[in-house]
Amino acid sequence: MSTHDHSDEHPEREPSNLRLRAVRLLHRIRREAHTRHFVVAGLLTALVAGSALATVTDESAQAKAERVAAEPLDLVQSGWPVDTVLDEIAAQRGTATSAIELAEVAVAEKQALDEAEAQAQAEAAEAAAQAEAEAEAAAAAEAAKPDWIAPSDDRITSHYGERWGRLHAGMDFANWYDDPIWAIGDGTVTYAGWMDGYGHLVVVDHGDGIETAYGHASEVLVSVGDEVEQGDHLSLTGNTGNSTGPHLHFEVRINGQQVDPYKWLGDHGVDLD
Ligand SMILES: [Zn+2]
Repeated sequence: MSTHDHSDEHPEREPSNLRLRAVRLLHRIRREAHTRHFVVAGLLTALVAGSALATVTDESAQAKAERVAAEPLDLVQSGWPVDTVLDEIAAQRGTATSAIELAEVAVAEKQALDEAEAQAQAEAAEAAAQAEAEAEAAAAAEAAKPDWIAPSDDRITSHYGERWGRLHAGMDFANWYDDPIWAIGDGTVTYAGWMDGYGHLVVVDHGDGIETAYGHASEVLVSVGDEVEQGDHLSLTGNTGNSTGPHLHFEVRINGQQVDPYKWLGDHGVDLD
């Protein structure tokens, strides 16, 4: 023997050409699979880092991706026919791809949840700011509200004082029929109905011994016990009771005593001129 060929000594250990190609292909695919595993592991790390949202992320997709990433692609078994090995490789590659897709879906869902949460927080902040602004505006309006207003914006036709030998205990506003009559301040209705001389009458108690009376109405719009606010309509102008034309007879009563409404309103910041 001039030439020593070791390959001839143990021919049973030499892989066939077909098997050698399969093993080389398998090694290449395993490298690709390692790369995929690295990508999947990175995606999963990103998911775990967002642990606050992990509970609402698609758990089944994440679990599946973790399981597939953890499985080794160890398919080389000596007894397997090559076709079976290649089929298994193809199946594993498909599973690994779908695992990546699942992980990508999970990441996309997490991103969507992040965006939804951020939007919800922004909307909540905006709503809170708007509510605060409205509360401030309401407080400013309350602070700007005058204590008292006139009961009518129509022409004054008669003042408080002696008239034809007797006291005219209020002042008159010549309105048209059914013009609204307003509460001059917040208070409670203590009379709402007919009274001789006054016709249809409304009396409002404003507290602190201050009452106002509104007479000759064609119609009363409130009831005894009603809480009214300044400017609320109490009744409509009429010609009921001792009256010779449609008008409002208005009185201010301090501790039960009628006073000059024009002077009282003027003293309390209401300019009737
Ligand atoms: Zn009068």
